[in-house]
Amino acid sequence: MSLLHSVLENRKTAVILGHTNPDGDCVGSCLAVYNYLRDYFPQVDVTVYLERPAEKFRYLRGFDQICTEVPGQFQTDLCICLDSGDRERLGAFSGFLGAAGKVLCVDHHVTNTRYGDVNVVEPDASATCEVLFGLMDEEKISRETAECLYTGIVHDTGVFQYSNTSIRTMEIAGKLMAKGIDFSTIISESFYQKTYVQNQVLGRALLESILFCDGQCIFSVMRKKDMEFYGVTSKDMEGIVEQLRSTAGVECAIFLYEKEFQEFKVSMRSKKKVDVSRVAAYFGGGGHVRAAGCTMNGRIHDVINNLSEHIAKQLEE
Ligand code: 5GP
Ligand code: MN
Repeated sequence: MSLLHSVLENRKTAVILGHTNPDGDCVGSCLAVYNYLRDYFPQVDVTVYLERPAEKFRYLRGFDQICTEVPGQFQTDLCICLDSGDRERLGAFSGFLGAAGKVLCVDHHVTNTRYGDVNVVEPDASATCEVLFGLMDEEKISRETAECLYTGIVHDTGVFQYSNTSIRTMEIAGKLMAKGIDFSTIISESFYQKTYVQNQVLGRALLESILFCDGQCIFSVMRKKDMEFYGVTSKDMEGIVEQLRSTAGVECAIFLYEKEFQEFKVSMRSKKKVDVSRVAAYFGGGGHVRAAGCTMNGRIHDVINNLSEHIAKQLEE
């Protein structure tokens, strides 16, 4: 029996959790497991708890069943944590960890702290959805579950572009395509399509970006007052740091946005050299070698100085 099936044996209730500010891999993996359980474990009463995901993921089956409110009590037989490298990433839903009969953690972050009772962590996998594919019975994957898994892989690989894309990633994507999914629409409408204001803030972030370290690094920042002016939230910041990284000659890109006064969400991306997960982990965050993040406090100038010191050290290595 596969690990996923054995962990579900004799469970009456289960919850599925992802990380704060859920991205495509997070929403995709949560709803993939949700659909798989609904199809093959109808005896398990399962609920997905997540911060409200972006509307562009509405096409995934189960989107409307996602609970965004923190429950009054955290009792459950099984807690499945997806795409979250540590307890803090579960945000307000981390209360389930102490109250659950068992915790299963499935993830692909190199910085994962193994906080579950059972941990399936594969840092070489492109996405948590890729890890999940390996835990599911292939013939039991419905078209709807395939749409969720494909969405996660597309988002975490930047449409099969980033270096985390492997031969296995492509093989899995092919098997998911064989389930009859509308892959073109998934890619164009959930990944590339931007709202008008999202394009405006992207344009502004590029316009105000600054090169440093002899053009090897680039950074840009979005202030809270500017986010309020455009009427955008954290969800609208997706893709900006990748666009900064695509600048010719740049090895490392940093994008900050202000969550609260002098509290910045930091996103970092690199191309070939810098291990940004090390930099993020130093400042209390985590992620992958080429994509990582953390939250930092202080003046913008100090935040950038602190980050660039660590990045410059790696560039000299
Ligand atoms: P992003 O820059 O898109 O927010 O995140 C890039 C990668 O780093 C993602 O895989 C994300 O899960 C991880 N990451 C971002 N912020 C944090 C953080 O504060 N803590 C941890 N542990 N990982 C993070
Ligand atoms: Mn992921």
